[in-house]
Formats: sequence, structure tokens, C-alpha cells
Amino acid sequence: MADVIIAGAGPVGLMLACELRLAGVDVLVLERLAERNGESRAGGLHARSVELLDQRGIADRFLAAGRTGPLAHFSFIPLDIGDLPTRHPYALAIHQSRVERLLEERAIELGVRLRRSAEVIGLRQDGTGVEVQIAGVRGTERLRAGYLVGCDGGRSAVRKLAGIGYPGTPATVTALMGDVKLTDPPPGIVFGAESRREHGSFMIFDSDRPDTHRVITMEFDKVTDRDAPVTLEALRLACIKIAGTDFGMHSPHWLSSFSDAARQADRYREGRVLLAGDAAHIHFPSSGQGMNLGLQDAVNLGWKLAAVARGQATEELLDSYHAERHPATERMLGSIRAQTALWRPGAQTDALREVFGALVEFEDTNRYLGGVCTQLDIRYPVGDGHPALGRRMPDLDIKTPSGQTRAFELLHAARPVLLDFTGRPDLRAALEGWTDRVDLVEAECQDDHWTYPVIGDVPAPAAVLIRPDGHVAWAAPTAPAGSATPETTTAALTSALTRWFGPAQGR
Ligand SMILES: Cc1cc2nc3c(=O)[nH]c(=O)nc-3n(C[C@H](O)[C@H](O)[C@H](O)COP(=O)(O)OP(=O)(O)OC[C@H]3O[C@@H](n4cnc5c(N)ncnc54)[C@H](O)[C@@H]3O)c2cc1C
Repeated sequence: MADVIIAGAGPVGLMLACELRLAGVDVLVLERLAERNGESRAGGLHARSVELLDQRGIADRFLAAGRTGPLAHFSFIPLDIGDLPTRHPYALAIHQSRVERLLEERAIELGVRLRRSAEVIGLRQDGTGVEVQIAGVRGTERLRAGYLVGCDGGRSAVRKLAGIGYPGTPATVTALMGDVKLTDPPPGIVFGAESRREHGSFMIFDSDRPDTHRVITMEFDKVTDRDAPVTLEALRLACIKIAGTDFGMHSPHWLSSFSDAARQADRYREGRVLLAGDAAHIHFPSSGQGMNLGLQDAVNLGWKLAAVARGQATEELLDSYHAERHPATERMLGSIRAQTALWRPGAQTDALREVFGALVEFEDTNRYLGGVCTQLDIRYPVGDGHPALGRRMPDLDIKTPSGQTRAFELLHAARPVLLDFTGRPDLRAALEGWTDRVDLVEAECQDDHWTYPVIGDVPAPAAVLIRPDGHVAWAAPTAPAGSATPETTTAALTSALTRWFGPAQGR
């Protein structure tokens, strides 16, 4: 019996498996495919995702396998993100298949068990665990685990088997996609705003296979059966209708389709069954958010599920996963619907795009949309008080007794950290009872303010409690201006430690 079974070895399932293993949890990943198929839907990672990888000390592997550029976009209206306050102010162009390969390598290094040709087809939960039925080369089998997480994509069997609703808005767009050979390709790539035409839009760029192009067509106010297989002929005809030519398309390697249906699971947890990634939310791929959202789900859920599976926290902690990730993604779905509206053909949309184009010239608008699209602006509802609460910890340069380092390096082991810039003995004393779970780091930092992408500068706290996902769970007011007495400060710290990391040991 595993502590946790994950259904699906896509990017989200693999990232979650790594997070759980870092916390010492026994994880089994079940994947229905016999081998990775090398298909890449996603083509990039945003700044916050690169930061998540940096927090675990593995960003370099991903940076070496991709290409960075200082631009993001809102419905292909360019946003300059080069000045955002992060060490990674860029988008990383990297094929999804490479992301999956690197995450799988990392998962294996950490001791994750991965079983292929194992499709989850049934589940039954009781008070102590979940029985998972799988179909594979050896017929059907039953496995048991404490928890099951469905990371099995938009058509998630786990979501359906758990009876979790998937409300949202239906498709209005038909998009076809193929990795094909072209005898008469366009001179360069066709990507971005210039690909909008009277009858829809088309894009052509290099696929991750040699001598093969990725062709994508989008037709609005047309809905086709998503279960019907996509044919080369359908892609060819759509391309001729929109672009006026099929560019001599032949020899398809992979054909697929997607739409602008935008749905979100009505609850991310049903007892011992949880959902993450596309299993929990789907949407049009405007500005490339899906895999990024899923990686954030995985990093938000991993440490919480590990603490509950190890018996260090109650299931209430798992409810904070839905409470934090559902609204963050709901907001993104709204932004994506707006981007899809801005992508429709027609003179009205042309005019709207012009207005938007002028608006993003203003620094504040550019910074606001940059914060949304890079997912750097997320603030979880952990409580009121210091403006850093619930936001990501900035990657500050700090000096600790063991030398110069960066805040993100403190998070490599995915353990919570109390980062104290004052050396106050009362904070050290308050941490007794959690030292098995929470690391204390006393450090010096030159910054008297921290800079966030959208809200700008905030006064640097005197101390912060950082969750393993890099979000600030508690912040001490800056002394001496803060009005809180030492007693209220330590009481607030104790309360945050209990809320997030369970009761003190030995009390
Ligand atoms: C055209 C296009 C472009 C995109 N571009 C971007 C982009 O640039 N950036 C971005 O962030 N996102 C992008 N996305 C979205 C991104 O591809 C998805 O959000 C991402 O793949 C979700 O990852 P996942 O692990 O949740 O699910 P998936 O990648 O779908 O993985 C699910 C896994 O579960 C397995 N599985 C399914 N059912 C079962 C079962 N019953 N039992 C066991 N295993 C099962 C599947 O075989 C698969 O391996 C794009 C999407 C499209 C269509």
C-alpha cells in the first residue's frame, strides 16, 4: 500500500510526485500509456513556474533545455516583462515533452515509483484509504493507498468516478492541431497577431520533431465533436479556408484538437480523492497557462497532502488547497475568456485590440497584466496584516551564519522556514515544538523594502514564516514601527505554526 497514488504521469502528476517524495511520502504514479508519446501541447513556462523549479534547485535543467525571451502576451498583445521583480523576468520556451522528461528523471532520482500501462478505471474510498482499480497488461487489479490524486487530464476518470462536477462554459471554437510535413512552408513562422484572418486564425512554427511543422487552425462559432478523430483532410480544409492554402501539408505525425470550453471542478477534494492540473480545470490555451496552473496546484498540494498523510496535520489543511487554488484558477479562467474574446475575427475585435494595445503602453497596465500572465501576482487568502502575507516570498539575497545565499535556496528541501532578520530570542523560543518540521534561519538582509510585481514596494518584515510552496504564512511587523508587542507577535507566530504545520510536539 502506497501513502499516495497519483493517476497520470503528465507534468502535473510528476511534479506532485516529486513534491511528495521530498516530504518523505511513498508515492506510486499510475500512467495508462505504455511509454511517453513525446507529444507536446504546451510550448512554454512562465516566470512563476521557473521560480517554483528554482525553489527546488532544478531550474537550470529546464533553462538548459529551452530558450528564454523577455516577452509575455495578452491575447498576443505583447507585454514587456523584462522589468518584473523576479530573477526570471522572461518566458521560457520549452516543449512539454521535455518538461515531462526532466520531471520524470527527477521523480526517479527521488525514488518515485512509476507504473505504466496502468489505467485507473475504478475507485472506492472508506475511512482509512482508497481502493483503486486499474486495467493493464495483466488484466484488472486493485491497489490501495491512503489518498488518490487525479492528475489524469481534462477528461479525468478520477474526477468522474469521484462524482465531482465540472461546471463551466461550453466550446464556441474549433481548433485543429497537427505536426505535419509541408512541401511549401511559409518563409518564417506564422505566430501571434498576424495570424488572425477573416475566417479565423492559423499558426505555423517548428514542432519538436525534425523537418516537421506544427500547424494550428482556429475557427470561431463552430463546434465539432471532440470525440471524433481529427483527420489530415479536416486540418487541410480549415487551413485553406483561413490561410488560402494548405502549404502542401502531408505525412501527419500527430493530429489533435482543442476548444475554448472553460471548466473547473466544483471541488478539488472529495474525501481522500483530490484533483490537480487539467483534471481540475480546462480552458483555451491563450497565453499558455494550463501546465503552469497545474504546476502551481502540485506545489500547493504536495506539502499539505504529505503532512496529512504522515499524520502531522488534519484534513482541514487539505481544504485550504481548494480554498487557495480554486479562486486563483477561476480568476485566470476569466482572464483567458477575455483573451479569447480579443482573438475573434472581425472589425469590432480589431478596434478593441487597438484600444488594448494602446493601454498596455502604460507602465501600470503592462505591469498588472504581466503579473497576471506570469502568475507572479497570486495572493492566497491566508489572512490580513502585512502585504506580503499569502504572496510568494521574493528571492532575496541574504547572509546567514553559513554564508551568502538566496531565499529560494532555503526552500530546496521543501520544508517550511522561519526566516528571522532580527535574531530575536522570543521567536526562537516560540518555534520550540516545531523544530522537527520547521527550519529556523537567522539572516541579514540589506533590503528595507520588498518589491512585488503589481503592488510595488512593501516594508520588509522583521521575520517571515515561509511555507514549502514559497508563500508567506506569517510576517512580523518591522520593528520598531510595528505596533505589535513581542507577546502578540509570538502569539501570532504560534497560531500560524499550528494552523499550517500542525500542533507543537511534546505539548
Ligand atoms: C495547443 C495547446 C497549447 C498549450 N500551450 C501551453 C503552454 O504554452 N503553456 C502551458 O502552461 N500550458 C499549455 N497548454 C496546456 C497544457 O498542455 C496542459 O494544461 C497540461 O498538459 C496539463 O497537464 P496535466 O499533467 O494536468 O495533464 P496531461 O498532460 O493531460 O496528462 C495527463 C496524464 O494522465 C494520463 N491518464 C489519463 N487518464 C488516465 C487514467 N485513467 N489512468 C492513468 N493515467 C491516465 C495521460 O495518459 C497523461 O499522461 C496547451 C494546451 C494546448 C491544447
